[in-house]
Amino acid sequence: MSRKFETRCIHGEEAHAYEDPIRAVSFPIYQTATFAHSVIGHEQFNYTRQDNPTRLRAEEILASLEGAAQAVAFASGMAAVAALVELLSPGDHILCSDDLYGGVTRLFNNICRKNGLLVSFVDTTDAEAIARALRPETKLLYIETPSNPTMRVTDIRVCAALAHENGALLAVDNTFLTPVYQRPIELGADIVVHSGTKYLAGHNDTIAGFLALADPSLAEKIRLIGKSVGSMLSPFDSWLVQRGMKTLAIRMERAQENALKVAAALRSTPRVCEVYYIGLEDHPGYAVNARQASGSGAMISFRVDSEETARRVLQKVRLITFAESLGGAESLITYPITQTHSDVPPEQRARLGIDGRLLRLSVGLEDADDLIEDLCQALEV
Ligand code: PLP
Repeated sequence: MSRKFETRCIHGEEAHAYEDPIRAVSFPIYQTATFAHSVIGHEQFNYTRQDNPTRLRAEEILASLEGAAQAVAFASGMAAVAALVELLSPGDHILCSDDLYGGVTRLFNNICRKNGLLVSFVDTTDAEAIARALRPETKLLYIETPSNPTMRVTDIRVCAALAHENGALLAVDNTFLTPVYQRPIELGADIVVHSGTKYLAGHNDTIAGFLALADPSLAEKIRLIGKSVGSMLSPFDSWLVQRGMKTLAIRMERAQENALKVAAALRSTPRVCEVYYIGLEDHPGYAVNARQASGSGAMISFRVDSEETARRVLQKVRLITFAESLGGAESLITYPITQTHSDVPPEQRARLGIDGRLLRLSVGLEDADDLIEDLCQALEV
């Protein structure tokens, strides 16, 4: 019988393929640059830039959770996306959601264009707009759902069909919902992107990234890119992520429970004009999300009555920390316009509604009442 999801968070699919002679229960950190060879020829591990057992352990667990053939771990989420675009050649076209984590928009606009790739942004919640924007040279459709920071929901199945009809790959950033709630490969995606910094590691204490791949031959190409450019995850960070994933399912459940309470409370708080949380039934993406995911996660964006209120909230929060990032035990509040999305072109930000009144909240694992009390006092005049 195949193992259930929660069991695989801790143990993976099966016992790992190599023996630790000491038989430690916690997987060892193989903090080594290189591995001794006993014979000339193939050894299981060679050199840590290329392969390392602790990294492989983290990769095996994530591959299992995402239902992927393989996962490859990188030094950051951005290193993972940078490896992904190395699959493309000058003249190839990337079609992507207009609302993406700002660092990915920066990579696409600055680095990818410089390297001769063509990039265009489209509202991927609109299937007809995607169909119109696809070109014969489109090789990658890249989406986030829900998107960062405006929480728009894109239909993964529709994107997979459109991308494949066009001969393109579909990559889905699954950082916000994690495989606990959404498994894009089961819905037709070819590649799943993670900032492992966030929920996978889960404790705001490391930077990591992953690509999970449906096709083993694509995974081998990605491994070759990682090995060639040297952007693979270190043994210690790999260990932190595999430890974090042991509690992924229960952390996500608790964070989501908190987020529902916080979103409801924010709605009835004076000075809050709009709450964007995909777990609220009147969110425009609620139905699509409910069809393709089993939960709504714990990311909330909200718009307050003025920029002055937004700035005051950031100064007044006491329990919640004003900081960039998300997905850890500690709740964080972020100001997308000056932080995560500061490098998104101003006209694109304005179109998406990323303005001085928009705040993004990563609801953590504290008691929900304490979080609500903190937000209420910060929103008081
Ligand atoms: N994808 C999303 C949705 C993110 O929020 C982030 C970072 O905030 C990234 C990718 C990039 O990941 P990292 O910061 O680990 O490089």
